[in-house]
Amino acid sequence: MQPTIVSKLPNVGTTIFTVMSQLAAEHGAVNLGQGFPDFPMSSALTELVCKAMQSGHNQYVHMNGLPALRGALAQKASSLYGATINPVTDITITPGGTYAIYTALTTVLQPGDEVIVFEPAYDCYIPTIELNGAKAITIALKYPDYSIPWEAVKASITPCTRMIMINSPHNPTGAVLSREDMKTLSAITANTNILILSDEVYEHLIFDDIAHQSILRYPDLFARSFVCFSFGKTYHCTGWKLGYCIAPDHLMQAFRKIHQFNCFTCDSPKQVALAAYLQNEADYLNLGTFMQQKRDFFRALMEKTPFRCVPSHGSYFECYSYEGFSRETDKELAIRLTKEYGIATIPVSSFYRNGEDNKVLRFCFAKKEETLASAAAKLTKLK
Ligand code: PMP
Ligand code: GLN
Repeated sequence: MQPTIVSKLPNVGTTIFTVMSQLAAEHGAVNLGQGFPDFPMSSALTELVCKAMQSGHNQYVHMNGLPALRGALAQKASSLYGATINPVTDITITPGGTYAIYTALTTVLQPGDEVIVFEPAYDCYIPTIELNGAKAITIALKYPDYSIPWEAVKASITPCTRMIMINSPHNPTGAVLSREDMKTLSAITANTNILILSDEVYEHLIFDDIAHQSILRYPDLFARSFVCFSFGKTYHCTGWKLGYCIAPDHLMQAFRKIHQFNCFTCDSPKQVALAAYLQNEADYLNLGTFMQQKRDFFRALMEKTPFRCVPSHGSYFECYSYEGFSRETDKELAIRLTKEYGIATIPVSSFYRNGEDNKVLRFCFAKKEETLASAAAKLTKLK
């Protein structure tokens, strides 16, 4: 007899990123769906990894992360955001941003807790909340600027509200939070027991001279927050799956109780390499300009297609509306574009629990110019 199990996620299928990347591969399509760069990462950084391996950094490092790397990250948080972060107690290196989010949610959620989540929402948030027996209270960002309807947030708070999740720059829309938003969040959470999870994996991918409003800039907000980051996004190495979480001591102690029995510790040579490479501030300080050029390059090409831009101010992504030329669902169009025109994208309805469809597709522009140009050329033929 085959053993049976009861799924903890009965309503979940395979993530849209895998579905669209697989479809792209089957049809030889240009993959502007899943978010990853198609250009090489820094060779100086890969050389540092090789050197670290060759010089024997191949055993477990400290369970909370290589001390030199945590020291460099605390220094960076201080110089970028004026934050006072204790590298010993407040930072844990994780195998990616997703793991940091999973661990933070698992650390705090009890059955019956409510978590306020803005939609469109990055696809791991709601399943992780539900795995922990908690309830996602979803609030739609205002289309088309994808701003937070703060009055709706206030109205959604109940005695069960345990956490509010924010994500800026935002995936999939490229919306960014302003200082005003952070002040409102401060006012809403002051004198409550509500925690915050701030997903800041795109902290450096921010455009149009906008300053990233990290939680780390706001001591009152930081006191109730888990802040999650990813080296994959900052150093063009999504396959490394390395990230970190910053949280105040009392929250981080609880986070580490979970972390120690899950992965315990992360890849040693890469941590050694990153600790050294973080000294190169220009690398991450220039990232916004570098990626903005790609956004603008792609945006100009897209003007020759029937799509209409829904402007992005950060991340790898820009959404484009097709309302003007098709009545298909976004999933239907994404599949048709992949099969018939050789372009894979992500339908934004996948980021809504109820499948809300504003007729927009997400395009990843973290690609070589030739990739973007060839994709746009195919789209100009679109009918
Ligand atoms: N959050 C958001 C908003 C993301 O887009 C990603 C993308 N990869 C992650 C978290 C996870 O990052 P990682 O690949 O480091 O797990
Ligand atoms: N974060 C990336 C995206 O939004 C992909 C991550 C994944 O495939 N899980 O496309």
